[in-house]
Amino acid sequence: MYQWILVAAMSNPWAHQVTPSTGSAEAIGGYAAGCLQGAVALPEHGTGYQILRPRQKRIYGHPIMQQYVLDLARQSKKAGLPDILVGDMAMAKGGPFSSGHRSHQSGLDTDFWFRFAAKPLSARTRNTIKPLDMVDFRRNKVNKNFGQQQVTLLKLAAQDPRVERIFVNPPIKQAMCDQFGATDPTWLGKLRPWFGHSAHFHVRLHCPVGSKDCEPQKPYPEGSGCGAELQSWLTKPAMVSSKPLPNRMPDLPDRCEILLSNKKQ
Ligand SMILES: [Zn+2]
Repeated sequence: MYQWILVAAMSNPWAHQVTPSTGSAEAIGGYAAGCLQGAVALPEHGTGYQILRPRQKRIYGHPIMQQYVLDLARQSKKAGLPDILVGDMAMAKGGPFSSGHRSHQSGLDTDFWFRFAAKPLSARTRNTIKPLDMVDFRRNKVNKNFGQQQVTLLKLAAQDPRVERIFVNPPIKQAMCDQFGATDPTWLGKLRPWFGHSAHFHVRLHCPVGSKDCEPQKPYPEGSGCGAELQSWLTKPAMVSSKPLPNRMPDLPDRCEILLSNKKQ
């Protein structure tokens, strides 16, 4: 596995891009087969947030994603939460990662940890800190790490109209349904049960205005998603990890190849 990751990193040109492309900001293609023109980099820390794994430089996004992160951090600080920890965004020109996950390619996906930081962390700590799991996989329930701070952050994250969906592990969705299902707020439906995502949640934004080649994801079913669909997830045996990365590059839109060759568009 390690060897494969190494080979993939060497042959993945997207992982070597160190500066964003010129041109206006545009998310191109799909979330899991796309790229990003005119990316902006999120500063390593700011009001209410700190960036994780700064060495990896997965700090780029479409400007609406950067603004979303800044807004969420400010709102969560206002709500009395400690600093939020921002995980992977996208690379300088987007495109597929060599390790980790298959989406995050068009600058519209960001991971946020459920773990908070009560004080400013050094760059070294932010490179090495361990995630905190929120799920007891034997009992298929959230564990004692999942409390009101996590609930507040998820609610703030999902209420934002820029958000298309948020991936969480099924017992986390269940915990949110237990608390909010009776009032059935529209944002609850945006929390989508998925593999992994037990130590972080993954925010996906809608295609932005002006990104004409951005491919939206198929809409999820209407409603809170707290019923039969969630139950079907909770009876599946293991939801610990996501599917492994495919061992070939996705087919990217032609515009991504132009972006990679660094020609001005
Ligand atoms: Zn993610």
